[in-house]
Amino acid sequence: MTQVEIHPSLEELEELGPEALFEWAYTEYGERAGILSSFQNTGCVMIDLAQRVAPGLRVITVDTERLHPETYAVMAAIEARYGLRIEHFRPEPERLRKMIEQHGEYLFFDTKAKQEFCCNVRKVEPNQRALASLDVWFTGLRRDQSEFRAKTPKVSLVKQPGGHSVIKIAPLNDWTEAQVEDYMKTHSLPRNALYDQGYTSIGCMICTTPTRPGEDKRAGRWRWFNQYEKGDKKECGIHVGGSGI
Ligand code: SF4
Repeated sequence: MTQVEIHPSLEELEELGPEALFEWAYTEYGERAGILSSFQNTGCVMIDLAQRVAPGLRVITVDTERLHPETYAVMAAIEARYGLRIEHFRPEPERLRKMIEQHGEYLFFDTKAKQEFCCNVRKVEPNQRALASLDVWFTGLRRDQSEFRAKTPKVSLVKQPGGHSVIKIAPLNDWTEAQVEDYMKTHSLPRNALYDQGYTSIGCMICTTPTRPGEDKRAGRWRWFNQYEKGDKKECGIHVGGSGI
């Protein structure tokens, strides 16, 4: 399928709450709808809400193979709690092998371009493969996560390479961190242990570090570039460019 027919309209979907959106997506699109999660708190809340109304909705992760053990522990806890199987989209082995052979495992320290190359191989390309299997993409983006994400719409249509359009939905885009935390506590959801070590955004090992009070939530990403990357969006490419932000 290359074109998505949307009933109701994007504007009408914008008015729906998270559970109604999950239910609509699963009813209308079935296997072509799914949650893409990195198993941070917002993702865990999304999965819990979806399980109430659409337990068969796919749960997908882009597994860079450089994630923290704490993140894999959350995945295991989610699978056990809901009896679901998380789908892992991993880097293409040959591309990954060549990248490491040519530039080394830690190329992301060298230059911004090499960091972006690594993100492309480990995240963006597997993410594109995941999106090729979807017409509706649920994401945990929230407006309060960074300056760059401050205008995140709830619903948008994003074009993927090859012309395939995907309905991108950030059902919790207007939730605050306090709301997410509150929901997590009330429902005793699995929580990444790294939050207790000062992390406010969790991605790959080394590239993600804890943040200090008052810093942007994504300030801990690629810290070694901070001195000359003023205005850096701190994005890996998954949500940049035709992404609906
Ligand atoms: Fe590579 Fe770091 Fe990007 Fe992960 S966050 S894909 S390790 S550059």
